[in-house]
Amino acid sequence: MAEAWLRCAALRVHERRTWLTDLDAAIGDGDHGINLDRGFSAVVAALDAGDLPSDDVGRLLYAAGRRLLGHVGGASGALYGRGFMAAGDRINAGTIDADPGDRALLEIALTAAVDAIAGLGRSAPGDKTMLDSLVPALAAIRAAAPAMPVAQLVAGAAEAAEAGASTTIPLVARRGRASYLGERSAGHLDPGAASSAILVRAFADVLASMAEDEPCPGERPERP
Ligand code: ADP
Ligand code: MG
Repeated sequence: MAEAWLRCAALRVHERRTWLTDLDAAIGDGDHGINLDRGFSAVVAALDAGDLPSDDVGRLLYAAGRRLLGHVGGASGALYGRGFMAAGDRINAGTIDADPGDRALLEIALTAAVDAIAGLGRSAPGDKTMLDSLVPALAAIRAAAPAMPVAQLVAGAAEAAEAGASTTIPLVARRGRASYLGERSAGHLDPGAASSAILVRAFADVLASMAEDEPCPGERPERP
């Protein structure tokens, strides 16, 4: 399932690379979509080549993080890369059941990713970054009723991430390249918050359609 998520995330990032790059052009340097697409394409290429440990979720997330770190570049490459690696590391520590459909694993892995990003970026919610969608997603998972099925749980997390991304529009950036703009960064959606919401939504869609032939429903634009 983690492999299906990475593949779906890659497809969605590819579909929306121009939009993400346009968001970054408004308050950054206009490379976010291109960067992320390059990184996720490298992850998919490694999966296709059988170079990633697909059957071990902790090792897979760690290895995917290393690929992202090496291929994305920019601030988000380091932050996403370290976030995925931290999630993988935390799962590899072996104190939780390594079933990717498991709620405890989800919560612990996302917590590790958020902590790694916040630590490396010295950032917090409200700074107009990817944390403005990831932290609400985590909060939604933590707040959900214990008996909630995981697919529903992650659908709620995706909604929270999307709503959280929208909250970045009026914010003045306090971290990253957008912070150089000061007040002029207000009025724009943060590209990293937008891409984080895409990643969480991809996971929700994979879980929602697991029984179907099409594991990553959505638009199917041409691939280059
Ligand atoms: P760069 O700014 O180096 O060109 P990207 O354009 O790929 O990197 O990514 C920019 C995104 O990275 C921002 O929209 C923001 O969400 C995220 N980001 C930047 N700096 C930080 C930080 N210190 N903490 C958390 N997220 C950050
Ligand atoms: Mg950029």
